[in-house]
Amino acid sequence: MDQARRNFLQGLGALSFGAATPAAAAPAIAVDGSRHRWAMVVDLAKCIGCQACTVSCIHENVVPEGSFRTIVSTYEVSDGAATAMVMLPRLCNHCADAPCIPVCPVGATWQQADGIVVVDANRCVGCAYCVQACPYDARFINHQTGKADKCTFCNHRVAAGLLPACVESCVGGARIFGDLNDPASMVSTIVSKGETKVLKPELGTQPHVFYLGLDAAMTGKIEGEPTLWQPKS
Ligand code: SF4
Ligand code: SF4
Repeated sequence: MDQARRNFLQGLGALSFGAATPAAAAPAIAVDGSRHRWAMVVDLAKCIGCQACTVSCIHENVVPEGSFRTIVSTYEVSDGAATAMVMLPRLCNHCADAPCIPVCPVGATWQQADGIVVVDANRCVGCAYCVQACPYDARFINHQTGKADKCTFCNHRVAAGLLPACVESCVGGARIFGDLNDPASMVSTIVSKGETKVLKPELGTQPHVFYLGLDAAMTGKIEGEPTLWQPKS
């Protein structure tokens, strides 16, 4: 058993510590009274852009061809003197203040007590308001179901005590999943050091996907052409 899985399973057995995010650098926790507040840390230094996470997510969640719940965007960046490739794994941020939720006219999307933002396909009418409202391009209309679709942190796996498929399959160990309400979890330990960044922090959405090693220039409008996934803005 690797350290990430051991840490996650230990967290599942922990008692509730309320909103005990351990340090001032950690974000506010948007939901009260939940035992867990799931979050992910992505260590960019460990991502090799292999797309194992992308493929495993497609298989796990039956994502139709041409759509992605998660993907690793590849950017070519240059400072004028040197050029480098940057790998940026992207997925729903399970924002504490998620702009995709209030726009839904039928209440088909909401945030669970554990922080996971979900969609009820039975209620969804496929209007795509939430797709437009997400500033991270993390949602899409599933062309097979006609319903809104997105990453759920593999809600079904987490409920069974398993890691999300993308975390389980990451060959570099770049994706770390765990409970921010558990101060002993690996995600809490990393986030509490204050060295992580989130995408578009200026929007106040309080993303719960944290990046280690993310250059400040990459948190906002992404310059350059992603090879697999084109952000809208
Ligand atoms: Fe909603 Fe987008 Fe935030 Fe996910 S990343 S919770 S879809 S606003
Ligand atoms: Fe709500 Fe579905 Fe419309 Fe999204 S696409 S706003 S979940 S009804």
